[in-house]
Amino acid sequence: MVVVKSSFRSGVVLSLSSGVVTLQGFLSAWVGELFRVASSLGLVVNLYRDRCLNIVVGALLFNPESAVSVGIRVEACRLLATIVLGFMSIGSILDPLGNFILTPCRIDAQYRWVIESAAPSIISRMSVFEPLETGIISVDSLIPIGRGQRELLVGDRQTGKTSIGIDSILNQKYGSLLCVYVPIGQKASSIIEVFLSLVVRDASFYVSLLVAAASSSAVCQFMSGYTGSSLSEFFMLSSEIPSFLMLDDLSKHAVAYREIYLLLRRPPGREAYPGEIFFVHSRLLERSSKLSTAFGGGSCTSFPVIETLAGDVSAYITTNVISITDGQLFLSLELFLSGVKPGIDVGLSVTRVGSAAQWNGMKILSGSYKLELAQLVELQAFSQFAAELGAETIYRLARGRILLEMLKQCNGSPIGLPQQLGVLSLCNQDIIRTIDVDRVQTLLQSYYSVPQWVAIIVPSRMISTALI
Ligand code: ATP
Ligand code: MG
Repeated sequence: MVVVKSSFRSGVVLSLSSGVVTLQGFLSAWVGELFRVASSLGLVVNLYRDRCLNIVVGALLFNPESAVSVGIRVEACRLLATIVLGFMSIGSILDPLGNFILTPCRIDAQYRWVIESAAPSIISRMSVFEPLETGIISVDSLIPIGRGQRELLVGDRQTGKTSIGIDSILNQKYGSLLCVYVPIGQKASSIIEVFLSLVVRDASFYVSLLVAAASSSAVCQFMSGYTGSSLSEFFMLSSEIPSFLMLDDLSKHAVAYREIYLLLRRPPGREAYPGEIFFVHSRLLERSSKLSTAFGGGSCTSFPVIETLAGDVSAYITTNVISITDGQLFLSLELFLSGVKPGIDVGLSVTRVGSAAQWNGMKILSGSYKLELAQLVELQAFSQFAAELGAETIYRLARGRILLEMLKQCNGSPIGLPQQLGVLSLCNQDIIRTIDVDRVQTLLQSYYSVPQWVAIIVPSRMISTALI
């Protein structure tokens, strides 16, 4: 039996495994409080009483490799966990505790920001109304996303989830949006690939990378989500500018929390995840919002990513995050493998903000496309059996196929709004229908290579006639 000398501010380590420790001896403690043990800091995540009604604290060590042993003395800091932020965070690579791995400038302005702060209240928010242009024509026209929205990217592995987020970041090059990319539990090689693709396209100066690779401890992977969220929240609240947060991906975040939870010896629930996993993700995503003008008018848009198994959207974590977010982009493996890239399933993808966050011109041009695409799938199935098709059905099928071809887009090449409008109006005017489906992509590539200012001034009809 361990005899523990009680004091308000100190205790001892009772047990230790993989960065998760159990402490005893405190007369009071609170969840989210920092403590110091040896040369490392830790965070209280769990409080309960043992049979003798002593307070037992479940806690996480920020640096699991530090020399901590059972029986070592622990000092409570009476502080909430914070990170040091400032404008130097823009364009930097940080670790889950906010320490700089790589920073392009001298550190001058510094603010302490609480890692787990409360989400902005309803009073301080306003409706989402400004569009966030992703540069992906199928998203901007059919499933528009607004600044301050939380849009889930859900799909099987290797279906282009990360590519959609990275394209959205690349498209902000000349905008005023600051981006935070948080790869959670990914291979270091994939993270470097993403980083290099940002550097090559001159995007690294407005993107902060918060890295917790697969080799990092579960504690670091769990913390990185919250640190990323506080970084984007910092820009939204203190600098009153719009920010963008990509959490890639939350399924690995849930797995990391499950590992911590099981090490804390708490009872597992469905699929061995803790019962509170919904709260873990909701308090992370609730911080994304569009603030009212009285509170600065900043916004934080979130793109959490969830990986599904065999397209099963009814899994525990997937359904949880679907119900927390304001819509989802469902990426279908079938579409992706059949060459429709990005493989966005228009039927299963939704945005709860709707066209409220869409530019009026785009609203007019893309009004009927979603319905047409949904009808195309049914018509294609039906036309396989019918020997003779009516003229109307043949017309709809041809138009649908061209529409589908038009929405194909390579990753790493976001398209500006004027060019998107031009392409959609070409389809509206049935100009593209006069050419072969196989030649649609060639025409579009020639059209995209026309400088944007020409696309704005000269009507798309004239350009396309010249190109055809
Ligand atoms: P993971 O599950 O491993 O995280 P993911 O779903 O994030 O994968 P990506 O890494 O974005 O998928 O993309 C997988 C592959 O598909 C990459 O090689 C990428 O280049 C390719 N890809 C993605 N989108 C497109 C596209 N629109 N056109 C062509 N290739 C694409
Ligand atoms: Mg990915």
